[in-house]
Amino acid sequence: MINKKKWMLALSSLLLLAAAGCSFANNQSKEPDKLTLFVASDIHYLAPELNDNGEAFQKYMTNSDGKFLRYIDPITNAFIRDVNGQKPDVLIISGDLTNNGEKASHKELADKLESIEQETGTKIYVIPGNHDIKNPWARGFQGSEQYVTDSITPEDFADIYQDFGYTEAVSRDEGSLSYLATPSKDLWLLMLDTSISEFNELMGNPMINGELSPETLAWIRKCGEQAKNENARLVAVMHHNLLDHSKVLNKGFTLDNNEEALEVFKECGIQLVFSGHIHLQNIKSDGTDHPIYDIATGSLGVYPVQYGILTFDPTDGFDYNTSLVDVEGWAKAEGIEDENLTGFSDYSKAYYSEASLKKAKDRLAEVEGYTDKEKQMMAETMGKLNLNYFAGTIDKVREEILASEGYHLWETADPSVRTKNYILSVLEDGKDNHNHLTLR
Ligand code: FE
Ligand code: MN
Repeated sequence: MINKKKWMLALSSLLLLAAAGCSFANNQSKEPDKLTLFVASDIHYLAPELNDNGEAFQKYMTNSDGKFLRYIDPITNAFIRDVNGQKPDVLIISGDLTNNGEKASHKELADKLESIEQETGTKIYVIPGNHDIKNPWARGFQGSEQYVTDSITPEDFADIYQDFGYTEAVSRDEGSLSYLATPSKDLWLLMLDTSISEFNELMGNPMINGELSPETLAWIRKCGEQAKNENARLVAVMHHNLLDHSKVLNKGFTLDNNEEALEVFKECGIQLVFSGHIHLQNIKSDGTDHPIYDIATGSLGVYPVQYGILTFDPTDGFDYNTSLVDVEGWAKAEGIEDENLTGFSDYSKAYYSEASLKKAKDRLAEVEGYTDKEKQMMAETMGKLNLNYFAGTIDKVREEILASEGYHLWETADPSVRTKNYILSVLEDGKDNHNHLTLR
């Protein structure tokens, strides 16, 4: 028995040596470090202990923006299963980690992230979004009541997420929760805190807009110089968008001083920015000869529930694609019986379509001059458009929508009809693939 064990041990150390030999050979041939990064955004996690899925929560959900808040714990667990299965080198979460900055949600999410780092060694970096800090809307739900629950301060944020950026940072900005992380010698991450939380209590709500202060911009410049000196590529990550992702919906989403920031980013040689906040999967470039790209990652809690996968090769550049969270696979592995989870692709699509259709019907309710049948066609067009706009797949349905009767009715509607401009603008720039990007 002992001999057999010894033999097994010898064999496994031989195998280990062989593996080590391989990587040694790779190092010798100076193969540059390839990195795989997962990028998720706007989880809006709500701790199960704050939500009994009772009357108050149901009521709260009727005014919701289509987020799968009821299932955010299973969705987060399913996402973690994907991360543990694929073991990326890096996981980035670009803000709005919690529903409304509840301390309990932050702590529970941090515990989940801890389990990833332990299981896979994946380096995790997070930044706050406008919902995460000093949020006067932090609430729990019990029976027919909503109750006020603790939110957190910026100091709490750096403490709760200390293992997910704040202690590993090679440099931290003094006046914000921005920091510089160096997951590899070739690729550095500028993790930027663009939210403004200090007036939230006074205003009674989380401020939606964001900015980079002159001091933070000066600190970014220094990071840029350091990266240039050490020949590292810089990627910026922030909650607010650097570029307008929509002609109609951009106020409060795009950084207030985005032009100034764009200039500084270009000085730093940044080509790629990751943002969130708008809950759309959408890629925009500034359209110049040396373009800078802003990839807005869709919300992890919104249809189609996906994240980005970026691979970086110092010689080949960047390759970006999106991937759906395998909620169904997780539900099966866990033996979950809830059919909404075991059949999540159908459920999520139907849920989101219904929410969009309802929104469209509400908006059209007071519009005069259309029959019910016409309004129904218009609402269906908007439903289809919304579903694909959020998934970043307008390019796949654009022709079909343009040819539909519902679209024709929108197109010829009076300019005063709300939502008309939104629909036209979505289709106007809907020719691009928003789920893929290659940067050589
Ligand atoms: Fe958000
Ligand atoms: Mn946000």
